Amino acid sequence: MRLLPIFAGKGFFILQMRPLKLKLCKMPFDCLLGEKRLLTACEGSSGGGRQVGGLPVLGELESIRTEAERAVAAAASLEEIEAVRVRFLGRKGELTQILRRMGALPAVERPVIGQRANEIKEKLEEALAARAAVLREQELRRRLEAEAVDVTLPGRPVLLGSQHPLNIVREEIEAIFLGLGFSIVQGPEVELDYYNFEALNLPKDHPARDMQDTFFISEEILLRTHTSPVQVRTLERLAPQLPVKIIAPGKVYRRDDDATHSPMFHQVEGLAVDTNIRFSDLKGVLLTFAREMFGPKTRLRLRPSYFPFTEPSAEVDISCVICGGEGCRLCKHTGWLEILGAGMVHPRVLAVSGYDPEQCRGFAFGMGIERIAMLKYGINDIRLFFDNDLRFLTQF
Ligand SMILES: [Zn+2]
Repeated sequence: MRLLPIFAGKGFFILQMRPLKLKLCKMPFDCLLGEKRLLTACEGSSGGGRQVGGLPVLGELESIRTEAERAVAAAASLEEIEAVRVRFLGRKGELTQILRRMGALPAVERPVIGQRANEIKEKLEEALAARAAVLREQELRRRLEAEAVDVTLPGRPVLLGSQHPLNIVREEIEAIFLGLGFSIVQGPEVELDYYNFEALNLPKDHPARDMQDTFFISEEILLRTHTSPVQVRTLERLAPQLPVKIIAPGKVYRRDDDATHSPMFHQVEGLAVDTNIRFSDLKGVLLTFAREMFGPKTRLRLRPSYFPFTEPSAEVDISCVICGGEGCRLCKHTGWLEILGAGMVHPRVLAVSGYDPEQCRGFAFGMGIERIAMLKYGINDIRLFFDNDLRFLTQF
């Protein structure tokens, strides 16, 4: 008697028996594995056609194969392909589980079931790879289409920085004085009390120190309150060389903070020392500066004032940049705007720096760069310079 498996699915098997008798076999699936064994098994059975749940592992394998083929075909992305692979071939995958159970099968059945399982596994791996290749190709094409560069689109504008208004004004001031034969020098912002005050004729108990509300770092070290210490440092360095003609632009610090005062601001110090320097030289230099900076019609006015390091001293006003002297809100209806302080260098300042006040004289002036920039551009709040607001900064 020879039995042929005709149909294997869902655990049922139809065994064809000779001569042409159909019989459903309930025997354990292993009855299919070898004719001899099968025969034995079938002979041992009670005979008669019956529906049975035989050959569960082969059946399972076939249904896994069908389901896997369907899942591979349905996968629409690489992620889904990976999910299918994990579902069937992963560590806990359906096919893997069956392969794991091989050890528990009778030795005689293992080769057949193992072979079939491996076939299915190989086929599935091939199908997964093929489907993945197709999907990868599709995805690449889709991405190339989506990411295509449209060379006709307008370019992105490159943002250019612009010069800070204070730097623009500082460079203008420097250019004017360089043209008048001055050179530019710099000095430290963290300064000794000696250079900031004492050498400028401001001893420790001098009441004029109160005019410059100072950030002290220690008893003898401070943040410079003006650029004047550069005068003393330069004179010390050059003495007794003549002439001396310098300007010293830089940051200075005072404990002030409102719409017209900033705790950090910028000054330009000027100094000229020579054998025959006169007050009229000071006036001439400042008038030239004012006209270069604010226009050729600018007039200059000097008011007597007091600074410990100059004698005589003057506050210097220019005719109003808005009304030209008629009177307006900016000049508080005086027609004049104060721009700087100046004077003839005090003989004591020359003496402590190594110059003989009998042999030479000098003038000095100091101006705030913010003040000049505010007047030049009509800015009414000093804090705008330091807010880093592009709407403000890009206007210059
Ligand atoms: Zn005015």
